[in-house]
Amino acid sequence: MRKSEIVVVGAGIAGLTSAAILSKQGFSVTLIESHTQSGGCAGTFKRKNYIFDVGATQVAGLEKGGIHSRIFDFLDIPYPEATILDPACIVDLNDGSKPIPIWYENSKWLTEQEIQFPGSRKFWQLCTLIHQSNWIFAKNNPVLPISNFWDFSQLLKALVPSNFVTGILLKSTIFDLLRICGLSKNERLIKFLNLQLKLYSQEDVHNTAALYGSTVLQMCQKPHGLWHLKKSMQSLSEALESSLRKTGVNLIFGQKVNSINFDDVNKCWKVSANSRENSFTYLSKDLIYTPPPQSLLKHLKDPLKRKQSYKNRLNNLPAPSGAVVFYSALKKEHIKNISSNHYQFVSNEFGSLFVSISEDGDGRAPKGEVTLIASIFTKTKDWFDLDNQNYLKKKKDFMKKISLELESQFDIDSENWLHKELATPLGFEKWTNRPNGIVGGLGQNPEIFGLFGLSSRTPFEGLWLCGDSIYPGEGTAGVSESALMVSRQILASKGIENFNL
Ligand SMILES: Cc1cc2nc3c(=O)[nH]c(=O)nc-3n(C[C@H](O)[C@H](O)[C@H](O)COP(=O)(O)OP(=O)(O)OC[C@H]3O[C@@H](n4cnc5c(N)ncnc54)[C@H](O)[C@@H]3O)c2cc1C
Repeated sequence: MRKSEIVVVGAGIAGLTSAAILSKQGFSVTLIESHTQSGGCAGTFKRKNYIFDVGATQVAGLEKGGIHSRIFDFLDIPYPEATILDPACIVDLNDGSKPIPIWYENSKWLTEQEIQFPGSRKFWQLCTLIHQSNWIFAKNNPVLPISNFWDFSQLLKALVPSNFVTGILLKSTIFDLLRICGLSKNERLIKFLNLQLKLYSQEDVHNTAALYGSTVLQMCQKPHGLWHLKKSMQSLSEALESSLRKTGVNLIFGQKVNSINFDDVNKCWKVSANSRENSFTYLSKDLIYTPPPQSLLKHLKDPLKRKQSYKNRLNNLPAPSGAVVFYSALKKEHIKNISSNHYQFVSNEFGSLFVSISEDGDGRAPKGEVTLIASIFTKTKDWFDLDNQNYLKKKKDFMKKISLELESQFDIDSENWLHKELATPLGFEKWTNRPNGIVGGLGQNPEIFGLFGLSSRTPFEGLWLCGDSIYPGEGTAGVSESALMVSRQILASKGIENFNL
């Protein structure tokens, strides 16, 4: 049995970040990861001469004052090399109209909004007002949802007067904002917003919480912005790992946690894990769990029997999406009309495709070549219910259809692909251990957003949740916020009340 003050399960961005913060604060930390490398959904894999980003391809929060920068400054580690994305993305509604570049410079984006969506100024102004209020609130590090008096006191400290005004929108959706602005029938704007919101909240205008949607719709512009990492997404995890090494975190790869129990004799959490050859047991007073909360149903069996209502809550969480991702490479000269690293376009077959193209010479492909990654959302059930033969047939069919869509969208000759492969929810389950390959967090609708979401504080003392199903949401920036929040809660539980970055 190995003891440490804190055990963290999962070395994705959430686990790496919380382990790094708490270790830097002087706690002994063990971080257990089932894979042979860190990063989880923001990791990479190598194929032939190429490095592919598994899931995340762009990063928010690297600007001064952004969550990644604040954490990197606190840990005293260098930032990964990155460039701002301008435009962040080009959205093609494929309705014969001009594609929509989402510019970084505010004035340029305002002009583009006027050209693309005449008469929509009021809506964007309203989003900006809500976002500015959200942003001051987020920077004051609120703890949401509220589970005890300390959480409540942190929420009170974070609130600014404008939050009381935006608070009336707690149960509103982005569609409600459109209605207020007289734009509920603006089909082109709604189509655009549906595409973008689906990427960040897994929901459309009718179901995305207004307070969440207003912020994600402003993330591409100054003073925030989205960033393209040089080399690969792995450099974010590598930087965090360098902090773990400095502070002596016990970072363990290749061990899968298979059960979590409370040890009544030692009054601590007992975590059982196994590698290919051996079994291991870890003891800790505090345990941070970063896989999706749905996995607790498998890992926390005995304690959950005593908390039936919590078990029911986990059982009844809305089903998150899965992803199908197409990883490819080709010579840069063989893709025509490229002026952005990211594209999103409407597809009759798949609804929409989100495409990330590497920068020539950024380390992902040999000089003169680029990687092209295209992803779509899918229902995980559609893949897991198939027998092997039908699964392989469906996978082949998707590969062909996605290739054709990309060839038509970017004028690519079918003979010019240098590499092509596809990951389905089965592949994501294998890579990340996420049950049924679910990715991203819970859809950010008013029923589950903020105050109404799943708290990092569980009904079990010392067991904490963190990651993309916990406030404030998904993405590497979102899970870093959730890692900071859980670290503050643990520190407060040990009498360190005023920890902040
Ligand atoms: C296709 C796709 C595209 C995306 N694009 C973007 C993007 O462009 N920008 C962005 O910011 N975000 C993006 N995201 C979302 C982002 O990648 C995730 O929200 C974020 O990386 C999740 O981090 P996490 O640490 O919460 O979870 P994970 O990354 O899932 O990490 C959890 C870790 O726990 C480990 N683990 C699980 N079970 C066990 C166990 N039993 N024992 C031990 N270890 C275990 C896993 O191996 C994994 O390493 C994308 C996601 C996908 C799938």
